[in-house]
Amino acid sequence: MGKYINNSKDNGLLIVISGPSGAGKGTVCKSLLEESNNLKLSISVTTRKPRIGEKEGINYYFIDHKKFNKMLNDGDLLEYAKVYDNYYGTPKEKVLKELSLGNDVILEIDIQGALKVKSKFPDGVFIFIMPPSMEELKNRITNRGTETENELSKRFKASYEEINYISKYNYVVINDKIHEAVKKVKSIIIAEKCRVDRINSKLEDIKGGK
Ligand code: 5GP
Repeated sequence: MGKYINNSKDNGLLIVISGPSGAGKGTVCKSLLEESNNLKLSISVTTRKPRIGEKEGINYYFIDHKKFNKMLNDGDLLEYAKVYDNYYGTPKEKVLKELSLGNDVILEIDIQGALKVKSKFPDGVFIFIMPPSMEELKNRITNRGTETENELSKRFKASYEEINYISKYNYVVINDKIHEAVKKVKSIIIAEKCRVDRINSKLEDIKGGK
C-alpha cells in the first residue's frame, strides 16, 4: 500500500501513542479527548476477549478471528499486529474520514503497528509514553488486577523490549503525574501544528491575501 500524504492544510494530524502496558497511555488519551473537540480516538478491532468493564465500541470492537481475517483480506485495516497472543487492528475508513474532515486522530497502538503506520504516514506524530520507573510499571499492572499471572509476566517482558524502540518515535513523555503528561502531549500537538513544513500551504494563502 502506498503512502497517505497528510500535509494538506485542511487535514487533521495523525497522532500515534505507544508505550508499555501500564505506562498510562489509556488515561492520557482519555484526558486528551475530554479536553478537545476535534480530537478523535480510533477504536481498534481485537480478537481479545473483553475485560470486566470494557465496552463494545468504546474500548474496542471485539471480533472473532474469522471477522478479523475478513477485514484484513478486504483491506479494511490500516495496520494490524499480534500482541500477547491476540490480534489488534486499526479500521482504516474511520481514520481517513476523520483526517479528511480536519479532525486530529489518535491511534493507541503497539510498536509493530506504529512502525507500519509510520511507513504510510511519514508526517504522523509518534509519541512514546514511559512509566517513571519499571518498578512503578510493575505496581500499576499488578494493581490493575485485570491480567492472569501468565499474562502479567508476558507484559513485563514485552515492556523491557518495547523501551528499546523509543528512538523510532518523535517524542517521549514520562507519565509520572498524569496532568503533567497530558500537558506535555497537548504541547506537542500544538507545536506540531506550527511546524513550517505543515503550514506551508497556509502561508501561501496568507501571501495570496486569501
Ligand atoms: P490491551 O490488550 O492492553 O488493550 O492492548 C495490548 C496492546 O495492544 C497495547 O500496547 C495496545 O496499545 C495495543 N493495541 C491496541 N489496539 C491496537 C491496534 O489496533 N493495533 C496495534 N498494532 N496495536 C494495538
